[in-house]
Amino acid sequence: MRYTARLGNMNSHLAVIGRFAPSPTGALHAGSLVAALGSCLSARSRAGRWLLRMEDLDTPRCSPAAEATILRQLERLGFTWDGPVIRQSERLDAYHDALQMLRNGGWTYACTCSRRERAQDGTDSCCGGCSERALAPSGRHSVRVRVDDRPITFADRYCGMQQQVPRQCGGDFVILRADGYFAYQLAVVVDDAASGITEVVRGADLLDSTGRQIHLQRLLGLPPVRYGHLPLVYNTLGQKLSKQTRAAPVGEHDPLTDLQQAMVALGQTMEPVGSVEAFWRRAVEIWDESRIPSSPV
Ligand SMILES: [Zn+2]
Repeated sequence: MRYTARLGNMNSHLAVIGRFAPSPTGALHAGSLVAALGSCLSARSRAGRWLLRMEDLDTPRCSPAAEATILRQLERLGFTWDGPVIRQSERLDAYHDALQMLRNGGWTYACTCSRRERAQDGTDSCCGGCSERALAPSGRHSVRVRVDDRPITFADRYCGMQQQVPRQCGGDFVILRADGYFAYQLAVVVDDAASGITEVVRGADLLDSTGRQIHLQRLLGLPPVRYGHLPLVYNTLGQKLSKQTRAAPVGEHDPLTDLQQAMVALGQTMEPVGSVEAFWRRAVEIWDESRIPSSPV
C-alpha cells in the first residue's frame, strides 16, 4: 500500500531507537541540551540507535543557518547520530498521505474560524459549527482532526501515569494550518513511525501534546512508542529556558562543562573527567534513569 510504503520502516523493533528533534530556529541552549543528552543516553546505554531530525516545517521561522549552528554545537558536544539528518521539510508527501487517510476515515473537517475569533475564548479551539458543515469551504481554512471524550492514559517513564482527555486539551486540533503548513502534532507522529522510533524522550513542555499524538497514532494505525518527559531547565528569573528568553547557546566555549551541567539537571552523579570523549564513555556507563527528577505536572 502506498501509504505504508511512504511511511517507511514499520516493522517492530526489539532494538531501542530514540531521537532528538530540534527546530532550527536558533541555537541549542541548556534546556535543549538536557533533552538531547537524555534521549541520547537513554538509547546508547541500551546499545540503541539515536537519530537526529530537524523539525523545519515552519519555514519562515527556520533557517539553514540555524541548522548549521545546531549541527556544529552537537558535534562540539561530542554527539554522534545514526544515519543522515532527517528534515521534515523533505517529508511533505508522507504528511499528505496521512492527512488523506484521516480524511478518508471521516476524522477531519475544514475550520474557517479566524485567529481573532479563536482568541476570544483564549484557546486554539474551533468556535463551533465548522464540524457540521456539509460542503468543504472554498476559502482559507485549516483542517482539524476530531477528538472524543475517551481519556488517553500512558505511563511516562519519568513522570508516572498520565491521563489526558484530548477534548479537554483544546478539543479538535489543527493538523493542517490555514497557511498551508502541516502542524507539529501530525508530522511528529508520522516521522516517529517512519523511523521506527521506539522511545520518545524529550522536555516536559511537550507532555501536554502526548495525548493528542497518541490519538493520531491510533487513528493512523501506527505503533505505540514509550514516552519519557525530562525536567525543564529554568533561568535565575524562573523562566523556562527558550529562544524567547534569550537562553545562552551551549557547546561553543566549554562543551565539557555544558555536558556536565546537563548531567546534573538529569540527576546523574558523575566524577570529573578530562575531555568530551571521556565524558561520553563514562556517561553511557553510569546512566541511571531512575535518578531523573520527575517534572511537576
Ligand atoms: Zn472553526
